[in-house]
Amino acid sequence: MIATTDKKVERIIADFPILARPTSRGKRLVYLDSAATSQKPRSVIQALVDYYEQYNANIHRGVYEIAARATDAFEGARMKVARFINADPAEVIWVRNTTEAINLVAYSWGSTNIKHGDAILLSELEHHSDLVPWQMLAQRTGAELRFIPIDANGRFVLDDLDALLEGCKLVAFAHVSNALGTIAPVAEIVERAHRAGAVALIDGAQGAPHLGVDVRAIDADFYTFSGHKMLGPTGIGVLYGKRALLEAMPPFDTGGDMIRKVDYAKTTFNDLPWKFEAGTSNIADAIAFGAAIDYLQDVGMDWIRNHEIQLTRYALGRLAEFEPRGLHIYGPRNPEEVSGVISFNFADIHAHDLASVLDGEGVCIRGGHHCAMPLMEKMGWPATARASFYLYNTEADVDALVAGLDKAAQVFKL
Ligand code: PMP
Repeated sequence: MIATTDKKVERIIADFPILARPTSRGKRLVYLDSAATSQKPRSVIQALVDYYEQYNANIHRGVYEIAARATDAFEGARMKVARFINADPAEVIWVRNTTEAINLVAYSWGSTNIKHGDAILLSELEHHSDLVPWQMLAQRTGAELRFIPIDANGRFVLDDLDALLEGCKLVAFAHVSNALGTIAPVAEIVERAHRAGAVALIDGAQGAPHLGVDVRAIDADFYTFSGHKMLGPTGIGVLYGKRALLEAMPPFDTGGDMIRKVDYAKTTFNDLPWKFEAGTSNIADAIAFGAAIDYLQDVGMDWIRNHEIQLTRYALGRLAEFEPRGLHIYGPRNPEEVSGVISFNFADIHAHDLASVLDGEGVCIRGGHHCAMPLMEKMGWPATARASFYLYNTEADVDALVAGLDKAAQVFKL
């Protein structure tokens, strides 16, 4: 039963082998945890197999046929990513994930640009990956951390933004919150940051997979994302940076592949993007990430966004049925203002217990602090349950979630 009228969703589901496998209790797998990591279509899995079975070789050095093929596929994947985000391939640096991308900027750009007394502006809803690296940088340099407030409905409060930006060198914030689904007012923050002379880093871990991004249109200085949240494998992610910024930055990791010339005393570095890619890269996963980008573009980012808005609207309506029994939904309630994430608590059932009952029904949701402990503490929530959607979810999945909540209500005698 796929209530979404679109045959396209049925075809999409058929592309994801894991969605056809029942759970060990014989239930249909209802995967509502794509904000943690997405499932992978067959074409991505096949890209990994093809590389290892047909042309496994190291890149950039070998002159033989399979080495050239591996290099072409690896650099071809970079070009796909560059087109996807509207960047130049030289501005697309392969890293392991969003976390590594942010650390790269915090060390490399941070070490040369942040001094004692400078300010770094974050928001109150940041994932730990976009908070801890800046805390460490602030500790190393004596810089001050400031935070854009988030209101009780999970929205950015920009009233004091200009004052917060005074003396600020860098603004870093999530395109989309993994904890609440809030879509940040990116254009406005970037524009005001630039006017104040600050550089803007956007954590796109949840933005690129669901909304897509045009880094030039939003004028991002840095934009970071992870392959595994957008149908690609784990272990591969991207740091986008404006060319002039990347050229002025010292390398982060050093060693093989990132050099132009080495003698015993000194080294000159390779051109962008390779200057930041020391050692053997994650070749297979980069190539498979390219296959994921192909898949997303075939489906269409506009279609995905529209599908998620419809699904969120349906889910908010169904979850509202439980409000008289003590269900609380957090974050903006307008489906257009969030991206594929609904955070909630059900009466006094702990989010972990709720997730366990749902697991028994084949429904995968996440319960916890979602790597946003300061936000949870500020809001006074010990934890939340989080259902997150992607292109392969349907209204039937939401119905399964709702049936699971009914079950939890029975188990916990609500
Ligand atoms: N930022 C946000 C908003 C995220 O949702 C995540 C992943 N949950 C990260 C950063 C970190 O991503 P990764 O673990 O892939 O480095």
